Amino acid sequence: MLCPAKVNLYLRIVGRRPDGYHDLVTVMQPLTLADELTVTPGGEDINLTCEAAELPQGEENLVWRAAARFREETGQQFGMRLGLRKKIPVAAGLGGGSSDAAGTLLVLNELAGRPLTDAALHRLAASLGADVPFFLRREPAVGRGIGTQLSPVTLKPYWYLLINPGVALSTRWVYENLDLTALPDPPAQEAWDPEHPETWVRNDLGGVALRRFPELAGILADLKEFGARAQGISGSGPTLFGLFPTSEAARQAGLRLRRTFSGWLAVARGLTGTEPETTWENHVWTI
Ligand code: ATP
Repeated sequence: MLCPAKVNLYLRIVGRRPDGYHDLVTVMQPLTLADELTVTPGGEDINLTCEAAELPQGEENLVWRAAARFREETGQQFGMRLGLRKKIPVAAGLGGGSSDAAGTLLVLNELAGRPLTDAALHRLAASLGADVPFFLRREPAVGRGIGTQLSPVTLKPYWYLLINPGVALSTRWVYENLDLTALPDPPAQEAWDPEHPETWVRNDLGGVALRRFPELAGILADLKEFGARAQGISGSGPTLFGLFPTSEAARQAGLRLRRTFSGWLAVARGLTGTEPETTWENHVWTI
């Protein structure tokens, strides 16, 4: 099972809730860049092998937690070996952990003969994290509420140049450092013209990441100069993205950035929800 990354092309904070969460409106685009998850049923326990040394290898890993919650919810006590190969940078605003959790739920529900309906899977996913339900379907969507109320949206499958400085940024820290009074009032109505992303790509959380890593502003300017149709910062950051009409244009921009930038650079394609998983790896490159 491939567990895709996402970028938030649009993220506006609508308000703060009494429980401390924020209500938002976000447009999320899944990408061909993906972690690889294998699930082998057997034994009685949940065993996880995750080759990324910086990630928890046991109960704290979102894959492990998703498997445990699935067993609780369905009463099925089968054991399994889980293998996770990370391709998505961690704590990067690309949703990797949430996607791995959703992928785990999808595989286990299939293996168990689909005991959970789509609605039950959605509820279980939301209990694991606000971004997890989005990854149950691999198509562009608008998220509202805390991000779990989803509706599909049509976007063009642009090519994305992704830029990550290799420094983790915690989502919690970004929200704690967000000054809601400095944000403009969100507009009542929203439209996301697929032909003109430059008119609507924006992120209310971007300012926090840019204050923390001021050098990112220069990269955003470079992206524009190198021909991006639009550019921005994903989720709570610090990953930046540029949208390009072709893979060649995205790769050329990546090569130009590579002259001065030593962090992680990759090109991936936006998924529309129709591409079979077997084709994804042909549409992703690291530079
Ligand atoms: P989002 O965009 O949803 O805020 P993110 O991309 O910024 O997410 P993740 O890569 O999902 O962040 O990781 C967030 C935290 O979750 C990390 O601090 C990490 O230690 C923890 N974590 C637990 N399991 C995983 C996993 N399988 N993959 C990535 N992170 C995990």
